[in-house]
Amino acid sequence: MEMLDGKLVSQSVRDDLKKKVEARRNEGKKLPHLAAILIGNNGASETYVASKVKSCEEIGFRSTLLRLPADIPEETLLEHIDILNRDSDVDGILVQLPLPAHIREQQVIESIRVDKDVDGFHPESVGRMVQGLPAFLPATPYGILLLLEHYKVETKGKHAVVIGRSNIVGRPISILLNRNDYPGNCTVTVCHSHTPNLKEICLQADIIIAALGRPEFLTADMVREGAVVIDVGITRMPDPSRKSGFSIRGDVHFDSVAPRCTYITPVPGGVGPMTIAALLMNTWKACIAKDTN
Ligand code: NAP
Repeated sequence: MEMLDGKLVSQSVRDDLKKKVEARRNEGKKLPHLAAILIGNNGASETYVASKVKSCEEIGFRSTLLRLPADIPEETLLEHIDILNRDSDVDGILVQLPLPAHIREQQVIESIRVDKDVDGFHPESVGRMVQGLPAFLPATPYGILLLLEHYKVETKGKHAVVIGRSNIVGRPISILLNRNDYPGNCTVTVCHSHTPNLKEICLQADIIIAALGRPEFLTADMVREGAVVIDVGITRMPDPSRKSGFSIRGDVHFDSVAPRCTYITPVPGGVGPMTIAALLMNTWKACIAKDTN
């Protein structure tokens, strides 16, 4: 069994970007600039955004963090996005989800300019991805592709089972693993909460992507010998022994599943850091795309 080490691969992506940013600086070119919007004080969202902003600073990107109150009217939020859309120094815009209940998520996603949509959630970005056109890929699926690529995991002709069909993880990774490219060329089965024979389907999988948000859901009896297991899940569980008061669990029962796998991602330290690396890659691409425009 080999660990797919997201921390290590993410660091190598960042080191590479850092060098490229330095070169741009020396050439006197504009530096990549990510603008993040955080609404309210959701603990997990605060942590994710802080980590994204810190990562930008570490590699020499510019970053702007706009903190807005939980009761901000949707219209005011859209005005803020419009300002960032029109700011030529801003290359990428992300609005941290989930949003307060009174704000329509789709409205917000669609208000971001497609060429600044570094989260890849805009319907035009998704449509382009589905058609195999150049597009910003959503960060978590893109991070998974980078990880598979780094370890040269064979995907062609494999049966990939994706558990979960959300717009941010399950659905896009199912499309990307099915594309005619590397990583890709898998035969993909997508499972969800109405899939009756999940265990039997998982037992047929060469690659399992667990993205359902149910801690330690995937157990050894659901995984065949030699499978590749990618654990996307992040659930905070109360843990009084920790200073933070919680520990993070994935969707895979790691201790029992790992011995059966050829490759497996740990949680934490697997897909999580890769998501941030992918966001940085998207922001970089958004910036350099302007060089030729
Ligand atoms: P989500 O929007 O809640 O979607 C969960 C999906 O799993 C849904 O499609 C749901 O089916 C399916 N599902 C739920 N229970 C199931 C069950 N018992 N059997 C089969 N399918 C089931 O979640 P998400 O946003 O995709 O996130 C999934 C997990 O990944 C969460 O733990 C989240 O925190 C984590 N995550 C991690 C990263 C990272 O960077 N590592 C990034 C994003 C998300 P239905 O469609 O039928 O409801």
